[in-house]
Order: sequence, then C-alpha cells, then structure tokens
Amino acid sequence: MATALAQLRRAVDQLQLSDNDWNTLSTPRRILEVAVPLRRDDGRVEMYKGYRVQYSTTRGPSKGGVRFHQDIDLDETVALAMLMTWKCALTNLPYGGAKGGVAVDAHTLSLAENERLTRRYTSEILPIIGPERDIPAPDVGTDERNMAWMMDTYSVNAGFSVPGVVTGKPIVLGGSLGRTTATGDGVAISTIEGLRVRGINPQGATVAIQGFGKVGYWTAIALEKMGLKIVAVSDVKGGVTGFKSVAEIFEYSTKTGSVVGAPGTDTLTNEEILHLDVDVLIPAALADSITEKTAPGIKARVIVEGANAPTTPEGDAILNDKGVLVVPDILANSGGVIVSYFEWVQDKQNFFWTAAEVRENLNQILMKAIHEVEETSKSKNVTWREAAHMLGVSRVAEAHRLRGLYP
Ligand code: NAD
Repeated sequence: MATALAQLRRAVDQLQLSDNDWNTLSTPRRILEVAVPLRRDDGRVEMYKGYRVQYSTTRGPSKGGVRFHQDIDLDETVALAMLMTWKCALTNLPYGGAKGGVAVDAHTLSLAENERLTRRYTSEILPIIGPERDIPAPDVGTDERNMAWMMDTYSVNAGFSVPGVVTGKPIVLGGSLGRTTATGDGVAISTIEGLRVRGINPQGATVAIQGFGKVGYWTAIALEKMGLKIVAVSDVKGGVTGFKSVAEIFEYSTKTGSVVGAPGTDTLTNEEILHLDVDVLIPAALADSITEKTAPGIKARVIVEGANAPTTPEGDAILNDKGVLVVPDILANSGGVIVSYFEWVQDKQNFFWTAAEVRENLNQILMKAIHEVEETSKSKNVTWREAAHMLGVSRVAEAHRLRGLYP
C-alpha cells in the first residue's frame, strides 16, 4: 500500500489537485472481509480470510482480479484495487477498480477443495458483485476454471445464466477469444514500444522473465514469435537459462511443476535473473521484486512490468538514475483488463467477436494509451510511470468533479 499511495501522492502533486481531490482519491469506497470455511477432502474444516475491495466505482462498475495466495492481506488488496482504478482510467475503460482474493496457497488444494473454496468465497461476496456492480477476473493462483465456478455460483443464485458477472471464463461459457493470451500480448506490445523508444532493434533482442505463470508464459510466447530471444525464465522455485525454446521449457514445467532442472539448462536464483545482461527484463511474478537492494545490479535497458507493483519507489528511483526505461504495470499489463472489457461487452450483447477483431481492438486501445503516456512523459518531463499515473488519476478526478458530491 505504501508504494501505491506514494505513486498517487506524486500524481496528485504533479497535477496540482486539491486536498479534497486527495481525500477522495486516496480512500477505498467499499471493503468486504469474509471468512471462507473449507471442508477438506479428509473431513477437516479450515477457515480462510477472503477479501473484496471496490476501490472506485466513479467511472463505472468496479473491475479486478481474484487472487488465491497465502500472503495476501487487506492492505495489499486495497493497493491492487487502487492500481486497477488508474489502469482502467488510463486505458479509458468504463470501469472503476477492484481486487479480491483468499489468503490460501492454491497449490495445497485438490481440485474438489479448490472448487468448494471458490464457490464459498463467491457466495460470501455475492451481494456486492454483479455485471453492473463489480466484475471479478483471474489473477495469481486462479484461472478460467475458477471463473467458471464463480459464474455458475452467481447464476444458480440468480436463477438464470449471468455470464457477464466474471471475465476470463472458458469460451463455451461466454469467454472471449484472445483473453487467455491478452495480458501477455499486451506486455509484448509494450516491450516492442519500449525498445522503439530506446532505439533497440527487437529482432534478436534478449529478454529475461521473472514469473512463468499466465502472464510470464504468454509474454514469452508472444515475444518469441516476434523475433526476440527469451534467454531466461523463472518461477517460485528458481530460474533457468540455456533452453532452446519457450515451448520446450513450458513442456518440462507442466510435467514437473517447475522450470528448474530442465535438461541442458543452467539454474539461476530469482535474484540472479534480475541481474542478467539482457536488453529487456520483465518482472511477471509478485510485488516488490525490484527494490533498493536488487535495482543497483540490473543491467537491462528496458523494464516492462508484467506483474502489478513489482518495483518499490526506492527501486524505481535507482532505475531512473540509471536511465532505464520502465514501462509501468498499469500500462504494460493492461491487455488483460482491456480484453476482459471486450468479454463483458460481448456477454452483454450475446454477440461474439472473431480473434482478429479482439486483436485489432486490443492493439488500438493499448497503442493509444502508450502514445499518450509517451507524449505526457515528454511534455511534462516526467517518467513513464508518473505520466501513466497522471493520466489515470486526472481522469478519475475529473469524473468525481463532474458527478459532484451527493447529497
Ligand atoms: P500465476 O499464478 O499464473 O503465475 C505466477 C507466477 O509467478 C508463477 O510462475 C509462480 O511460480 C511465480 N512466482 C510466485 N512467487 C514468486 C517469487 N517469489 N519469485 C519468482 N516467481 C514467483 O499469476 P499471473 O496471472 O501470471 O500473475 C502474475 C502477475 O501479473 C501478478 O502480479 C498479477 O497481479 C499480474 N497480472 C495478472 C493479470 C492476468 O490477467 N492474469 C493481469 C494483469 C496483471
């Protein structure tokens, strides 16, 4: 939360907004904390903490992922919901921002336990979600299977099918073509643009990716197709270098549960992967991986934030001093929420787009946001992160002013 608040404070100061604006913008609007009981397969009953934070609904229904991870707490959920608010405003989607999750290690759950936990969590937050209120999506530790269970739980209670209550669903349940790869596709587009700005030819440019989940993997696939060379990837157990292709390392990690130990590769720690001599570094795991401790050793000239909040303000200052271009999270990983928005629109209309239409519209929205950030960065002489926050925060502030204060 400290990082998100510091970024907001800076944007509010740079935009010369008022104290009233600061008070309005720095306060989450609705917080729900729930107990989520889980009956384990062996009959034991365990209790987990669950959250749903609706940070803002000023520009539309709130929108944000559901995380299953042992370390999440209310503080982090509020911070991630705040980032979603600026991300949706930066990309001009008609949404506020939200985030939620359960403090559970998803890897310890059997399939049946995961389903029971997902359904009970959905049922606990049910009064505040809905296609017009708040629309969850996958995040760390959840995927389209969880979204199918959430959609079903909500629909059973409504008495009819409500596909638009979540995004990131399987295609047959009203999901969108291109949603699975969308965040990675957006990170890849942002990488190409970051390289353009730094005058580096993408063909053969070298890339290291920390985190090999939904975001890291699809980013790697997209960049490899575009002619870049993925030289290292990592997951929670560590990293590897020296593999021939992303497909090869993916096949190994799917079989064994980790990239570490793939034949013919050398092992790296998660800190070593940050310090490789590459053109592009993509943090795509969790928050706070680039800090005052790890930033000094970074050699990459472009950093593209696939993860949310991977860089602390201290780490950011060091990168800026070194002249590293940081494409910030709220821009670089916005492909996911952009295609989630397309999914929601398609569900509302019961009319589904082709993969080419999804790709074209994603490209158009993301490129517009990238150019606006680049322009603002130049005209205001600020970093890309500052520019992105200024754009997102100013749009939310303007919406507040226009709506006025009730009563
Ligand atoms: P995921 O659960 O699919 O994958 C997470 C990956 O990070 C896994 O490979 C895991 O092993 C690795 N990891 C976890 N802890 C680690 C650590 N300490 N060091 C190194 N690696 C570690 O999650 P995801 O959906 O890929 O999300 C990754 C990040 O991207 C998160 O910050 C998330 O909020 C953000 N994000 C996700 C989406 C989306 O559409 N899924 C959209 C925008 C942003």
